[in-house]
Amino acid sequence: MKIAGVTCPRVSAHGGHSGEFCLHAKDNLADIVATYAQQGFSWIGLTEHMPPPVDDKLYPDEQQAGLKAVDLLRQFDRYVQTARRLQQQYAGEMTIYVSMESEFYAGAVPWVRQLQRQYNLDYLVGSVHHVNECCFDFSVTEYQYAIEVAGGLDAAYCNYFDAQYAMIEHLRPAVVGHFDLIRLFDDDYPRRMQQPQVAQRIERNLQRIAQLGLMLDFNVRALLKGATEPYVTAPILQRALELEIDIVPGDDSHGVSSVGVGLDSAIKLLHDAGCPCQWRKPVKQS
Ligand SMILES: [Zn+2]
Ligand SMILES: [Zn+2]
Repeated sequence: MKIAGVTCPRVSAHGGHSGEFCLHAKDNLADIVATYAQQGFSWIGLTEHMPPPVDDKLYPDEQQAGLKAVDLLRQFDRYVQTARRLQQQYAGEMTIYVSMESEFYAGAVPWVRQLQRQYNLDYLVGSVHHVNECCFDFSVTEYQYAIEVAGGLDAAYCNYFDAQYAMIEHLRPAVVGHFDLIRLFDDDYPRRMQQPQVAQRIERNLQRIAQLGLMLDFNVRALLKGATEPYVTAPILQRALELEIDIVPGDDSHGVSSVGVGLDSAIKLLHDAGCPCQWRKPVKQS
């Protein structure tokens, strides 16, 4: 898209979850990729969820469906094969990266490294969906349970940003996924993020991201879930820009109908916040 005469390419560094390879998403990966191409994306990263290393880390819907970790690994194997085929098929028209969205919980680090090596993944989106080992982003019920286990929202925020710091240190992902996801079902998040113990952690994590040259996912899926602004929230975006962190849009699509949704308004928002909107491409980690 063009803003004030400057071309801001449409890209998504985080998305392409498909019903073919993920129980809580919709549609075939090929149809999702075709939609990106139709919408004129320059490059996209397919970032299917990491399969869990053990059965007790399955998402609730996967547990209910009677799936096991081994089934998810087989599914992930098929995902990578399909994604590589699409990468070839679209070469010359649109660059496709074959990537993965990580988790962070006990046992995740060696498992992520093993998967990266085994599948020679193009890069990694480092996300945290667990606090105190509890998945908090699946539904409001899981969120409330995780907050209770943490001992309240303030503690949950602190634990979340501490887990994220550890994730950054251990995984050094090319892209840090939805940095402030912990605000998901908390209407009071602007105030909570200003509390010194939370604000200090946010600042620490952003500084580390800047030092390591990682990119920040500007994730518009928040809007589909009813939020008024993407992840990250405006004050964090402002600070990230001050620290010269590279921001990159992500639609976090989970089906054809969420491809590119909210992306243009997010790019406009980034432009207005002073972001150059000339996206750096994700680099492969060694
Ligand atoms: Zn998902
Ligand atoms: Zn995620």
